[in-house]
Amino acid sequence: MTATLIKGAEVAAQIREELKKEIADLKAKHNLVPGLVTVLVGADPASQVYVGQKEKTSKELGIYSERHDLPEKTTQKELIALVNQLNKDPKIHGILVQLPLPKHLNEEEVLYTINPRKDVDGFHPVNVGKLMIGEPDYLPCTPAGIQQLLIRSGTPIEGAEVVVVGRSNIVGKPIANMLLQKAPGANATVTICHTKTRDIAFHTRRADILIVAAGKPKSVTGDMVKNGVVVIDVGVNEIGKTADGKRILAGDVDFDTVKEKAKAITPVPGGVGPMTITMLMMNTVRAAKVAAGLMKK
Ligand code: NAP
Repeated sequence: MTATLIKGAEVAAQIREELKKEIADLKAKHNLVPGLVTVLVGADPASQVYVGQKEKTSKELGIYSERHDLPEKTTQKELIALVNQLNKDPKIHGILVQLPLPKHLNEEEVLYTINPRKDVDGFHPVNVGKLMIGEPDYLPCTPAGIQQLLIRSGTPIEGAEVVVVGRSNIVGKPIANMLLQKAPGANATVTICHTKTRDIAFHTRRADILIVAAGKPKSVTGDMVKNGVVVIDVGVNEIGKTADGKRILAGDVDFDTVKEKAKAITPVPGGVGPMTITMLMMNTVRAAKVAAGLMKK
């Protein structure tokens, strides 16, 4: 069996078209323009690229976009003051502080200062807690993208054996939590593996759906999966550079051996990656609708 590709770039483009229409409608019918602000401290090149992509996508969809690029030496007090000011700004429905922050800043305090209603990344403990009890306001973006890929590729989730490799707060734990909820697009039986798991292959071989977010290339190889598995590879690892200096990326899954047994698999790049920003846009639209009273929380 050779797997079909779950093309995140295509699914993301489809969702962005839907969002574009919804945003135009909100403007025409309610004079409502969703607003997203990004806050970047310092000049980390990767963070600059990510913030630039978020700004560009916002503009393409008709979302009001504001960007605060602060110097590396910004103090904790200055950053907290900016977040508090943005919390009060009615034009802004979503606040995104780009991580990682420079080492002298307390990341936790900054994230906890964001009004949970504007926390479109879904990282605030209030939103994490609401997700846990099955009443989420905002789903964290990468896990939300993974769930959409499963739903829109027609993968049966209810009753499925889902195995997640990785237990980070931004991918592994939230996607596991989302897929076990008593809800549409969920109702799975979920196992989480990590570096202390005794026999990872024992678990991965049972998976109907295997989600790998380990941050290590080739963490899962063909001999570790069963025939017909659906594989979501979240990993983004730089494994070298082309002659003209472009990054060569690989996922966490050994694509060549796993694709021979899988029913479907996400490529890297072009799989989960394009979904993450799209989900951020979706959360921003949701935040604007809630703020305007057009949608219940
Ligand atoms: P992370 O915080 O480094 O967490 C990695 C997790 O994987 C940890 O729980 C770790 O276990 C576990 N792990 C590492 N090696 C393992 C192995 N060989 N077997 C089993 N478990 C293993 O990483 P993350 O932030 O979740 O990100 C994971 C990957 O996804 C990275 O490549 C990242 O770049 C990528 N990512 C992509 C997107 C996107 O939009 N496409 C978004 C976020 C992340 P312990 O807890 O025991 O250490």
